[in-house]
Amino acid sequence: MEKSRIWLSSPHMGGKEQQFVKEAFDTNWVAPLGPNVDGFEHDLQNYAGVANAAALTSGTAAIHLALIILGIERGDEVLVSTFTFSGSINPIVYQGAVPITVDSEPDTWNLSPEYLEQAITERIKLTGKVPKALVLVHLYGMPAKLDEIVAICEKYNVVLIEDAAEALGSSYKGKKLGAFGDLSIYSFNGNKIITTSGGGALLSENEEWIKKARFLATQARDNAPHYQHSEIGYNYRMSNIVAGIGRGQMKVLDEWVEKRRAINKFYREVLSGVDGATFLTEPNEDYFSNYWLTTILIDEAKAGVNREFVREELLKENIESRPLWKPMHMQPVFMDYPQYGNGCAERLFENGLCLPSGSNLTKTELDRVESALRRIFNK
Ligand SMILES: *Cc1c(COP(=O)(O)O)cnc(C)c1O
Repeated sequence: MEKSRIWLSSPHMGGKEQQFVKEAFDTNWVAPLGPNVDGFEHDLQNYAGVANAAALTSGTAAIHLALIILGIERGDEVLVSTFTFSGSINPIVYQGAVPITVDSEPDTWNLSPEYLEQAITERIKLTGKVPKALVLVHLYGMPAKLDEIVAICEKYNVVLIEDAAEALGSSYKGKKLGAFGDLSIYSFNGNKIITTSGGGALLSENEEWIKKARFLATQARDNAPHYQHSEIGYNYRMSNIVAGIGRGQMKVLDEWVEKRRAINKFYREVLSGVDGATFLTEPNEDYFSNYWLTTILIDEAKAGVNREFVREELLKENIESRPLWKPMHMQPVFMDYPQYGNGCAERLFENGLCLPSGSNLTKTELDRVESALRRIFNK
């Protein structure tokens, strides 16, 4: 009999979600507004320690609205981590703006402060203008080098948009990720640390911006008895049903973070002493990762196997694993945009693998992954 599939990261309900959804049905709040939307936004604000949040249809929509609110338009340049998922960069192109991709550094795998500053000074030299904003990603839950990056943004007056889609529950120096950006986003897609089946949020200390986001997300309706529009709007608001799932998920978020961190610890034990398998690791106690996904680098010269071999062997046992994100500057659709770096993200992509990390993995499933890894790495 074929073994059941072990997923990289699958939805994990806590139990309270259906109560909130049922309430929405019972009160007929089956709409893109209602008590669950308000409640979920409130929960997010409290959790992140940010004054304002707007619940939206996706993290990508949240980034798109952030760019619109900042007035990013055709021809503007926007800096973005190259090592990310396309959702971070697509909205820059929706606006007709130019994404400037910046490489990773090897400690956190996130944006390199050094190449960030190089990119900014080069763009000033070439265009006479400072890129307007930076979309900064915290990949796999690992905080980027925030002190250095925030300082550079302040020095050059670049607005910081924090893409914390993978990093809800992570923190840096005790402050939650999502609380560092002028604007910040979360995603609640199906594979994220918590999910609403699909959804996202935009957060900011700036109340006017979040009010504007809610306005734009509901088709930019002016205050009039009829439908009147003075601006282009979007249909980006989260529904009250979906937000009910989110309210339930917020009740278990911290528990799920603990489970993901325990899984990360488990893999470190399984692979301890394996030459050529190294982990993405918190550089020091300032960094707290939710370890959304546990990720390893495989050095073929030392391990005797390469990333694709490991991935395919796991797949034979019906265990899902996945290469790290393919950098945006290597993607056919983005490769013609300016890029700054020295190949760090390319090397990570070449050798890196995400391991099954869901908070709902059972002991039996983890045992299966463990024995497969021990066999593959000869341990
Ligand atoms: C998932 C993700 C997004 C996009 O979120 P969606 O809700 O899927 O639109 C953006 N950036 C990163 C880094 C992500 O992982």
